[in-house]
Amino acid sequence: MKVAVVGAGVMGCATAWALSERGADVTVHEQFALDHDRGSSHGRTRIFRLAYPEPHWVELAQDAYEGWKQLDPSLLGLYGLIELVPDPALTSAQALEERGVPYRLLDRDEVRKLGATMPDGWTALYIADAGVVFADRARHAFLEAAGVDVETNRRVESTDELDADVVVVTAGSWVRDLVPDVPVTVSRETLAYFRRVGPPLPSIVDLNTETGGHGMYSLHDPVHGLKVGAHHAGSPADPDTEGTPDSALVERISAWVSERFPDVDPEPVEAQTCLYTTTADEGFILERHGRVVVGSACSGHGFKFAPAVGRRLADLALA
Ligand SMILES: Cc1cc2nc3c(=O)[nH]c(=O)nc-3n(C[C@H](O)[C@H](O)[C@H](O)COP(=O)(O)OP(=O)(O)OC[C@H]3O[C@@H](n4cnc5c(N)ncnc54)[C@H](O)[C@@H]3O)c2cc1C
Repeated sequence: MKVAVVGAGVMGCATAWALSERGADVTVHEQFALDHDRGSSHGRTRIFRLAYPEPHWVELAQDAYEGWKQLDPSLLGLYGLIELVPDPALTSAQALEERGVPYRLLDRDEVRKLGATMPDGWTALYIADAGVVFADRARHAFLEAAGVDVETNRRVESTDELDADVVVVTAGSWVRDLVPDVPVTVSRETLAYFRRVGPPLPSIVDLNTETGGHGMYSLHDPVHGLKVGAHHAGSPADPDTEGTPDSALVERISAWVSERFPDVDPEPVEAQTCLYTTTADEGFILERHGRVVVGSACSGHGFKFAPAVGRRLADLALA
């Protein structure tokens, strides 16, 4: 079976890996250079975690965990994760129990020993099966394991132009150019790096009381030390228009660093942008329509799931 994959972001690379695992004849097509920074998958790290308030996300993360270990366990930095919540009902405790994932609650001194502060009256849930996935290395590892070369600097204008039995569209924020009715919105998000020396800190997610979802997040960066961002805080964006970090968001991120990490200099050493492709319920769109398989798995939290998403898209393509 000849399968063409559009897009060499992490979802396209993971799908190429899963297809090759199953003996398909795979080609991958990317509009930019392989290591470009215009989409959603660039950069050194992303948060990896099994902790989600919903059991179905925990289950998908567990699947992905097995996939990362099969591909290369060193792609994960298991430094742990702390969920900081103003209301204990907002933690992932119940879903983790349902899925048999161990966790424990930390008190303020324990959180402080891990380099951060916890506001009065908040709850801290800690899990060890979490930390970071080394993003750039992961994309290359998928492609090397798949034994697939990427045709770069070629923009696919229509799935009809590809000589393949099936076409998998993992085009990130550009998905609607090839599959117009996919219900997603695109935003340009801002993140910043802070100088920190010492052993990697656990990743931290501050849950937002209004949404119950993530507010601010932080994770280890192997170059500067700490990477920090504000979840779903960016503005609507056109992926074809390059953008710059939002200075107001950089200020907000820096203020959070000075509050949450008293040992870290809150002066950012670098700021960057990245695109979110978001669905209304932050779920993933993994569907087949005739000869075309669509894989839109982002909403700002997709990377960690790539091995599992890649395998589900391969299943659809080879069905
Ligand atoms: C700031 C930020 C922080 C994040 N943090 C986390 C985190 O901590 N943990 C986590 O799990 N996830 C996180 N995510 C989400 C995660 O990074 C994304 O879900 C994931 O990278 C999406 O990958 P993708 O392959 O779908 O998209 P992309 O990486 O954008 O890949 C799509 C590719 O398709 C190419 N393309 C598009 N159209 C065409 C065409 N017509 N022809 C050829 N090529 C084309 C594009 O150039 C691009 O390379 C974060 C995302 C951002 C932006």
